[in-house]
Amino acid sequence: MLPKLFLLAATALLSINAQTTSAPAAAAAGTPFAFKETYPSGGSKPTPKPEWMALIKSANITNAPVVKASANGPVQSGSADPYCDWTFTGCTRPDDIVACPKGQWGITYDDGPTAFSGKLYDFLDTTQQKSTLFMIGGQVVAFPDLVTRAYKSGHELAMHTWSHSYLTTETNEQIVAELMWTATAIKEVTGVTPRFYRPPYGDIDDRVRSIGHALGFTPVIWNHDTDDWKVAEDKTFDEKWIDGNATKWASEAASATEGGISLEHDLYQKTVDAAIRILPTLQKAYKVTTVGQCVGQASYKEGGANTTTVAPSASSSSSAAPKASSSSSSAANSGAVSPAGASASAASAKTESGASRASISSAVLVLGASAAYMLL
Ligand SMILES: [Zn+2]
Repeated sequence: MLPKLFLLAATALLSINAQTTSAPAAAAAGTPFAFKETYPSGGSKPTPKPEWMALIKSANITNAPVVKASANGPVQSGSADPYCDWTFTGCTRPDDIVACPKGQWGITYDDGPTAFSGKLYDFLDTTQQKSTLFMIGGQVVAFPDLVTRAYKSGHELAMHTWSHSYLTTETNEQIVAELMWTATAIKEVTGVTPRFYRPPYGDIDDRVRSIGHALGFTPVIWNHDTDDWKVAEDKTFDEKWIDGNATKWASEAASATEGGISLEHDLYQKTVDAAIRILPTLQKAYKVTTVGQCVGQASYKEGGANTTTVAPSASSSSSAAPKASSSSSSAANSGAVSPAGASASAASAKTESGASRASISSAVLVLGASAAYMLL
């Protein structure tokens, strides 16, 4: 069943991408963006440039094993969690960004840009809402005009790796390549280097953290999952449940001890439509911002937020007690790049099933393949 589904998705996305890639380029004075760099094909597991490995050579990289991978994702053994593995136990470290301070909401959209992103950007523009966009490297190369548009609109551009793989199952070299190729693509299009990355599926442990930190990147997880990713693969899923989640979170604004960071996707038409429906609900209950704004951190290595977003001078509320346990055996991730990010519970965020993860991964790989096609 699944291969057939993916084939259908591939056909549809190839068609959609072919139709829409030319439109933004044409709108932007008819000159498609010309990349100077030669990038890996979209969705492939890339290899790093030697100079990138040199960046982590003298860093204190946590000596944790590469987690075994099955078709449904990482497979941990035993019950101990010495490396603070979020997929395994929901463990977070103080420098992981998981929540915004009370009263604020970090709005994030993953897996773009896609053929559906323009509709989302249009809507966000109508309410002057800035968001954090966790972009997949191959999609950046496939849709540079959407990346430029998002940046110029004041959205915070961030990374979601190159191949959308489980980072804990990759080697140090692969993790470096996933982050650096994506950063390079965003930098080439916009001129700025993102600081934030979201590990696909939230899959992070101390080894991944320490590599990201050595490269100057800060991980962002979430504490509210809209479950929008289920629309494409769970036939029993009712899209209205996404709206129900937002309504519930809005009702909790006054009593919650911390704010939110939500997980949404501009991957499908349905997820974009849901994102448009629920944003007003969240805006009524919270001050909705980018992630960088709510935690008071710069969006880019070059400093500042971006062209139009003004970051607050300082707002790091860390009053909420983390519910997830922080294991004590490894402290390699000292997080010198960032001041105190909001530390928070990941307990409510762990809802993705293994089967669904496999499906969404394949959907993203399909997008990647189509991106490679468009580069030909
Ligand atoms: Zn994703």
